[in-house]
Amino acid sequence: MNTRTGQLYIVSAPSGAGKSSLLNALRERVSNLVISVSHTTRQPRPGEQDGVHYHFTPVEVFRQQVADGNFLEYAQVFDNYYGTSRLSVDALRETGKDVILEIDWQGAQQVRERAESAISIFILPPSIEALSSRLHGRGQDSAETIQRRMRDAKNEMSHYPEYDYLIINDDFATALDDLASIFRSERLKRAQQCQQHRALFNALVG
Ligand code: GDP
Ligand code: ADP
Ligand code: 5GP
Repeated sequence: MNTRTGQLYIVSAPSGAGKSSLLNALRERVSNLVISVSHTTRQPRPGEQDGVHYHFTPVEVFRQQVADGNFLEYAQVFDNYYGTSRLSVDALRETGKDVILEIDWQGAQQVRERAESAISIFILPPSIEALSSRLHGRGQDSAETIQRRMRDAKNEMSHYPEYDYLIINDDFATALDDLASIFRSERLKRAQQCQQHRALFNALVG
């Protein structure tokens, strides 16, 4: 029987800082980890699949889900709503897997209020210029959308002091190592190890 409840992690960053790329790569490096699939009212980008990248949700359905209390957190980001399903996060944690929420600072504040033990990580770009060139280089958003995201980036980044860990995504491989190190050391903490290896500790010193 699984005795461990998965740990909750929050990862935030200004759009274009490399959050999705880093988390995708992290999946290959760290086992027993899942990334929560958010609900959003924004339109899918080319290549984005419903249920994989997001649950793409009509705005009226989203509002009903808010009224029904289905979201652990939700926020308006840019001109759309984004939210995390409470049930799906709880179900994933019950399987013993650590769950990553890829959410903005507003959502992070709500989760901290509701889930005391969430560990939060903020990803920063090495410069404003790099952020802009990454958003352009990604080639998936219109010029107008990119302008909007650059305008909001400063505000998003001003919330970095609220996070437990900061990662600067300059060299991708280094940032990925940094990210993986956080998971490794968090899992080595005594409380986590005791949950994970309860039978062993009992056998050794019980
Ligand atoms: P990208 O970060 O540029 O790839 O753009 P996205 O459209 O994927 O995300 C837009 C913003 O919404 C980001 O600031 C995310 O952190 C935020 N976001 C995504 N999912 C959620 C969510 O479930 N809840 C909250 N509160 N914010 C979210
Ligand atoms: P986010 O999810 O934070 O919006 P993405 O992961 O989509 O950001 O990354 C934005 C763009 O920047 C992508 O085209 C990605 O390939 C690129 N990118 C990410 N990290 C780096 C890095 N360290 N150096 C150069 N380009 C990067
Ligand atoms: P994008 O539209 O580029 O996919 O995402 C834009 C921003 O929305 C990202 O910075 C992401 O962190 C945030 N975001 C995505 N999903 C959620 C969510 O479920 N909740 C909150 N609060 N923010 C989210």
